[in-house]
Amino acid sequence: MSSRSGYGRTPLATRFLVSYALVYAILIGLMSFVVVQTVEASLIRNLTESLETSAELAEESLPDVDGDFASWADGVFGASGYRTTLIAVDGVVWADSHADPAVMENHADRPEVIEARDGQVGTATRVSASTGFEQLYLALPPEEGLIVRLSVPTREIGEELASIRGSIIAVAIVIGLLGVVVVALLGRRMTRPITELTEQSRALAEGDLSVLPRRSPVSEIDSLGVAISALAHDLGSRVTEAEQASEYLETVLGALPQGTVLIDANERIAYANPSAYELLGSVPEELAALSPFTFQSVVREARDDRVVVNRVSDHGVPVRRLRGVATPFTGDGRILLVVVDVTDNERSAAVRRDFVANASHELKTPVSSIIAASDALRIAVERDDPSALRFADQIQSAANQLDGLVADLLDLSRLERERPELAPIRFDLLVADELERVRELAAERGLELQADLIKVSVDGSHRDLAIAVRNLLDNAIHYTDENGEVYATLAEADGRVSLEVRDTGVGIPTRDIERIFERFYRVDAARSRATGGTGLGLSIVKHVTESHGGQVEVTSELGVGTSFTLFLPVSSS
Ligand code: ADP
Repeated sequence: MSSRSGYGRTPLATRFLVSYALVYAILIGLMSFVVVQTVEASLIRNLTESLETSAELAEESLPDVDGDFASWADGVFGASGYRTTLIAVDGVVWADSHADPAVMENHADRPEVIEARDGQVGTATRVSASTGFEQLYLALPPEEGLIVRLSVPTREIGEELASIRGSIIAVAIVIGLLGVVVVALLGRRMTRPITELTEQSRALAEGDLSVLPRRSPVSEIDSLGVAISALAHDLGSRVTEAEQASEYLETVLGALPQGTVLIDANERIAYANPSAYELLGSVPEELAALSPFTFQSVVREARDDRVVVNRVSDHGVPVRRLRGVATPFTGDGRILLVVVDVTDNERSAAVRRDFVANASHELKTPVSSIIAASDALRIAVERDDPSALRFADQIQSAANQLDGLVADLLDLSRLERERPELAPIRFDLLVADELERVRELAAERGLELQADLIKVSVDGSHRDLAIAVRNLLDNAIHYTDENGEVYATLAEADGRVSLEVRDTGVGIPTRDIERIFERFYRVDAARSRATGGTGLGLSIVKHVTESHGGQVEVTSELGVGTSFTLFLPVSSS
């Protein structure tokens, strides 16, 4: 804060002192003037009275006309101490205690003499021509033509006044100093609470709301303290509200799965929520260091064009697809960048697209062969050709394939729609049932089917788990050549049940292993179709296992065999 030019800031106590000093000096000056004036007037009055009394006494002792006036004058002076002069009404000096009347000029024009001649007691003050000092003169009205005049130098009055003035100054200084001390103490006492309040206000401004002003006996200061307390209270609740709001915001932003980054007008990153760190890997302090680079231009475009800018970019290892949406704040140049991971969305959109294309293709194949075989069948029947039976078999086989495909599609769609209803199931009995179901098929294909089961329960849907187990057994049988072996082994460890279905079949090439769980993915499409496979079996297995809280693992060696293992949590009941 700058002070207005020409005005310094002086403490209140100093202002009190200066005001006091000024007022005191003026009062003391006035007072001493009045006192000195009064005392001077009183001294002159006393002196005048004393002169008059002495003059009257002297007049009574006046000798006769032919008497010795010089001795009389000396005698009066000796008795009273006042210079004594005897003047005739015409102004001729007859006698004087201090000078030779012969050399003294005529006194007729002296003011006191003029007044005395008029019948009054004449008084005057002036510098004496004879003594050279200021004198007070008093002349009595004439008695038998002679005027008695006494005079005294006023020097004594001056000296007395000087001494009184000295005393007044000394007392004034002492009282003044005492006053200074009292005013200084009072000033400090009055300003201390103000200083305290100032410090407390400053502490408030700096965020320390714990100090509360003390109550003061001075009403104005107390009101100020109360006002500051109210301010502190108000400020406290506002700060709490603001803190709560920011806490809520922090919680909300912290819980958001979308990365949220706030960039200020100077391209500094003012805030980033935890998801932003997770998605971007790291969040720098400056926009210029933000990765992926595309998001830098997204932010700048949004700021410059004042529009929402939205772009997708690859980022990180393994590569994720991130969508950055930059929204400008109104007016202040700040930009909110929201980052969303769209990898899974894009992947599932692609999977959906592929699925429709694949499903159409898979359905078309048996339908085409049914149409072709039925045409051929009609012609064969018309001609009574014995090959009609073969065409009928072809139609039946294609229809079976279609039936299997539709059944798998329906299973898959049901599994995706519904969560399984979990109930405790004797998993060993379920596996044993499924083994029985495929035993005949295995025998037909000349395979040895072996099982090693233990009594164990899981929580799950009997129907879904049976489908999964059946698929694994079917695959093991279909992809194993004659004289091969298929083993089903149940075990339990670490709260998990494991079912391993192992075969000594054709095996799966390493590069295909990752993809065999995809819908319609087949390593050998011809073999799959020949065995009635749909390419959906393992997708169903994976889906069922994961929806039961488990997982499926596969190991395989080309030409040696394959092992699929289902892991499921042991039943909790
Ligand atoms: P399919 O109906 O074709 O069997 P699946 O989804 O069940 O479809 O299996 C996908 C592919 O995985 C199969 O086409 C096959 O190539 C391969 N496969 C599955 N199980 C085995 C196995 N036990 N041995 C070798 N290959 C297998």
